[in-house]
Amino acid sequence: MSFVIDPPVAAAVPVAGGGLFPVHRIYCVGRNYAEHAQEMGHTGREPPFFFMKPADAVVAVAEGATGSIDYPPLTANFHHEIEFVVAIGRGGRDIKAADAPSHIWGYTVGLDMTRRDLQNDMKKQGRPWDIGKSFEQSAPIGPLVPKAKTGELLKGAITLHVNGALRQKGDLADLIWSVNETIEQLSAAWTLAPGDLIYTGTPAGVGAVVRGDVMEGAIAGLGTLRVAVK
Ligand code: MN
Repeated sequence: MSFVIDPPVAAAVPVAGGGLFPVHRIYCVGRNYAEHAQEMGHTGREPPFFFMKPADAVVAVAEGATGSIDYPPLTANFHHEIEFVVAIGRGGRDIKAADAPSHIWGYTVGLDMTRRDLQNDMKKQGRPWDIGKSFEQSAPIGPLVPKAKTGELLKGAITLHVNGALRQKGDLADLIWSVNETIEQLSAAWTLAPGDLIYTGTPAGVGAVVRGDVMEGAIAGLGTLRVAVK
């Protein structure tokens, strides 16, 4: 049987050193650094919660390049969230935290771009966040670095600069729910598959960008993700 319309092109993220990692799903963790939870009006270690972005929200940015995204419609408060991203190479369900590292293929730097005004409206009304979180070009991402090269990444500075000024700063060691715990929780709810990406949450300092701004996100050992808003 042939397709009746052209099938969509599979989303993919380049791998540092060569190759392409195909994207299946994008899972995102909400409020996973204490100071960011506080700036969003929450405290303590609540159970993790998740939302998704479509795979084609990915905007892959090559090493050393400046990517670009369009300022999206319907918002006047377009926020940056710099995040540590984990790529799943081996799927599974009910994965225990202790077994999680063997499911990780690699890591990179990502931006969970958010229409904060729309997200806040939906929160107030108890409605789904999709319009605030899950739209085209909402997931810029840098080249994947294989875990075979980095080893298991458990700590390291994570920062975001906008036009050269520091906006967000944290350390992977400060994740409320570690990557391995996150994989345990996620895989209890969904069957993880090769190609899944997990955006693990953002440190404090989220804020707005406007057209013409350049964001520079960095994680120790994973390089820099540079993205312009046009
Ligand atoms: Mn986020």
